[in-house]
Amino acid sequence: MSNKKRSLIERLNSGPVICAEGFLFEIEKRGYMASGEFVPMVSLEHPEALENLHRDFQHAGSDIVQAFTYNGHREKMKIIGKEELLEPLNRAALKIAKKVATTPLGAEPNLMAGNISNSNIWNDKDPKTHFEVEKMFSEMVGWATDEGADMLIGETFYYAEEAYTALKVMKKSGLPSVITIAPMGENIMRDGVSIVDTCKELEQLGGDVVGMNCFRGPNTMMPYIKEIRKVLKCHVAALPINFRTTEEHPTFFNLPDNNGCTCSTPHKTPFPTALDPMQCNRYEIGKFAKEAFDLGINYLGVCCGANPMLIREVAEAVGLKVPASKYREDMSTHMLFGTHKRIPKHQRDYKNKA
Ligand SMILES: [Zn+2]
Repeated sequence: MSNKKRSLIERLNSGPVICAEGFLFEIEKRGYMASGEFVPMVSLEHPEALENLHRDFQHAGSDIVQAFTYNGHREKMKIIGKEELLEPLNRAALKIAKKVATTPLGAEPNLMAGNISNSNIWNDKDPKTHFEVEKMFSEMVGWATDEGADMLIGETFYYAEEAYTALKVMKKSGLPSVITIAPMGENIMRDGVSIVDTCKELEQLGGDVVGMNCFRGPNTMMPYIKEIRKVLKCHVAALPINFRTTEEHPTFFNLPDNNGCTCSTPHKTPFPTALDPMQCNRYEIGKFAKEAFDLGINYLGVCCGANPMLIREVAEAVGLKVPASKYREDMSTHMLFGTHKRIPKHQRDYKNKA
């Protein structure tokens, strides 16, 4: 294997490319972020924790090391009164991602991705916000380019026009651009454009990879992914969340607990801190990845709810062998369910009562 670094498009043209997302939920679970506030101060306050998560995802097969700057934009930093840390936070996150990407486990370096995302101030009825958002995106793309990003990811947009704006800003950098949308429960973008039409426009605007990420689990993302794959010629991305969303509740925001939990969260909804019982298991995530790959979708991953084990599952579902494959399940030596000849008969016989 040569250690020449292929571009994103070269990789996608020759097979599946895995991208781990979902840093927000996983870093929160690891104890380094306040849920709800969701600001990635971790790059400044606990850089080692962020590097470790990147390393874990890399070990599990992520080809892309996405800088954790989700919500690390000027608006959110203003809300928490730390605007002066905006640039240091972005540069720190980008430097950590670059460090991990350039020290791969195999011979070929990973790709480091700069990241911009939903601003939450975009208002289709207030053009002043459009100008603000464009400025926010431009400064972040500038820092990403500066820190040596190989590609850019614009993600989780629920206004079509905001996604178009993000893509236009990313395209100016000349870097390969991935753009993924996250329609909310009304199954349409908030400015009234259909999901498929938004993706068509993003392709027209030059998106190298167009698709969907976040908010939706496999069940409520797949129907749209199929449509998108049919009408687009460019590479398509599919990164669902790891939760069992339903037709009645297409996103995780209003997903009710259906496992009989009687304690309510302080904020009433299971989102975002009590979704655990509604998680997909690894086989459901693997099945989604395989189905998407068989449709011709090569850019695959998991968003909120992702963990290294699920990223390995995605990679293996599409035929890849990754460093973490060494630890793939092996029940043959299990104390009750094992088939190894050293597992005593009284143990095997007891398995149905265990
Ligand atoms: Zn997500």
